[in-house]
Amino acid sequence: MDTIDERKAIVQQIALSDTQKDIKLDILRLDLIHPVISGNKWYKLKKNLDYAVRNGFEGVLTFGGAHSNHLIATAHAAKLSGLQSVGVIRGMYHELQLTDTLLQCISEGMQLHYVSKENYNKKEEPEWLEFLLKSYPGMYVIPEGGANALGREGAEDIVRIIDREYTAVCCAVGTGTTFIGLRNALSQSIKMLGFVPMKGGKYLEEEVGKYTGAGGWRLFDEWHFGGFGKWNKELVKFMNDFYSKHTVPLDIVYTSKMMYGVQALMSENYFPPHSRILCVHSGGLQGNASVQHELIY
Ligand SMILES: *Cc1c(COP(=O)(O)O)cnc(C)c1O
Repeated sequence: MDTIDERKAIVQQIALSDTQKDIKLDILRLDLIHPVISGNKWYKLKKNLDYAVRNGFEGVLTFGGAHSNHLIATAHAAKLSGLQSVGVIRGMYHELQLTDTLLQCISEGMQLHYVSKENYNKKEEPEWLEFLLKSYPGMYVIPEGGANALGREGAEDIVRIIDREYTAVCCAVGTGTTFIGLRNALSQSIKMLGFVPMKGGKYLEEEVGKYTGAGGWRLFDEWHFGGFGKWNKELVKFMNDFYSKHTVPLDIVYTSKMMYGVQALMSENYFPPHSRILCVHSGGLQGNASVQHELIY
């Protein structure tokens, strides 16, 4: 049966070579809850979809780029909820240039609406949204990345499967929605560390601060590998080595950069002795299609 099962999100221990400082590292495999609606995307969507169903909307309309994990997750999850879906795509793609992500969205029944980058940037302006919705009446709007109050609340549910013994919880950051949900629901004694895979990603501190207040969290943006979606041989080698050692497949956009950063922090002795660290595997494996030939998994 095609259902989402949050109980499939197991905690996996990562064996560390240097055990002298008594540091333990675990990874929370949210990537296992569903093959398409993987990882954090489900948590950010579930309350939004529920809202759309309960309020009699015919479907949902959301936004994303041509490689967006959020779009595929929305297309599939909307279908399971009996809702239609519309994806507003950043950039005017010709039929022959469609990415794997966009083709999959179409096969999930999502209707695609291409807009120029200039128009895409207006996606939070009420007048532009109103204009857009004239073509799609009855649609409930979910912002890009599921970044709204219901998205943040849904992400809080991830904490239910996180043990209180951890001293630090790490996650990858895109819009910050998952990070904010986790920070707000976790005990204040647990430090939240966010890894931003884009250049200059510290700008997200303002957004995170708006919803969480100060203290108990930190964002790192130094392991971006050239920017969002960019990668090099070193990152690919790290992913392949990580898979060989721990049998955990990482994605090229988010979780590989997080784990690379966590490993760098460990080698700098950032974590004090007796730390108990949990890294959230937020899914996104469909995004590996473009580097499949480089990966051993
Ligand atoms: C979308 C995504 C993120 C970013 O989540 P936000 O809640 O937008 O910060 C992190 N990891 C993966 C694998 C993703 O697909």
